[in-house]
Amino acid sequence: MRLRNVPGSRDVIAESPYTIKDETSHKGKWNEIFGNDNPIYIEIGMGKGKFIMELARLHPENNYVGIEKYSSVLVRALEKQEEEQLPNIYFIRMEAEYIADVFDKDEVSGIYLNFSDPWPKDRHAKRRLTSVQFLERYEKILKKEGHVIFKTDNRDLFDFSLEQVEEAANWKLLNHTFDLHNSEYVEGNVMTEYETKFVEKGNPICRMDIIQKES
Ligand code: SAH
Repeated sequence: MRLRNVPGSRDVIAESPYTIKDETSHKGKWNEIFGNDNPIYIEIGMGKGKFIMELARLHPENNYVGIEKYSSVLVRALEKQEEEQLPNIYFIRMEAEYIADVFDKDEVSGIYLNFSDPWPKDRHAKRRLTSVQFLERYEKILKKEGHVIFKTDNRDLFDFSLEQVEEAANWKLLNHTFDLHNSEYVEGNVMTEYETKFVEKGNPICRMDIIQKES
């Protein structure tokens, strides 16, 4: 994500009715925020939020939480939400490392990771959102039958992610493709901002769908 500072974006986030500020105090009680018991899906690293807002529009029967660490991109999602006022989506500005402080066990029905930062240096591997360390955090919040769906055009990051799923004690690969847009999994695919850009450039998009092993 291009890091352009948007002046005042922190204030906008602090004042918006669509952002959750005290995110850890809603752990186990997110149904109160939404006012219903519908399933909650999250996107970690949502950028400007095009993907998750499209899901929220398509699926009023679900709830969505968009998570992003940078205010200057999150603020773009808030601008759209100001106009649309979708009732089933909220946003949090936070670092994903602390995700298990925000949601309780089984509180999340699915996790989307789209075009996550590659962290190419080996010593930063733990920061990749598909590392074993992150998969263990997801186990703490995701329902047993919940999926983690990851898309990227970065083949190195994707290969690393396949290895991590293999290595992780509690995860298994349901399906994957190295070329989403020429595969059966493209049906119903919702494009992200990065995906649109990379597809235009002709980059193949990799996608994996993983779930927890039955214990
Ligand atoms: N999902 C969007 C944006 C992809 S860029 C799309 O597909 O178009 C990756 C985004 O993830 C960036 O906006 C970055 O700030 C955010 N991000 C990366 N690591 C994160 C982390 N650990 N916690 C929260 N957000 C993160």
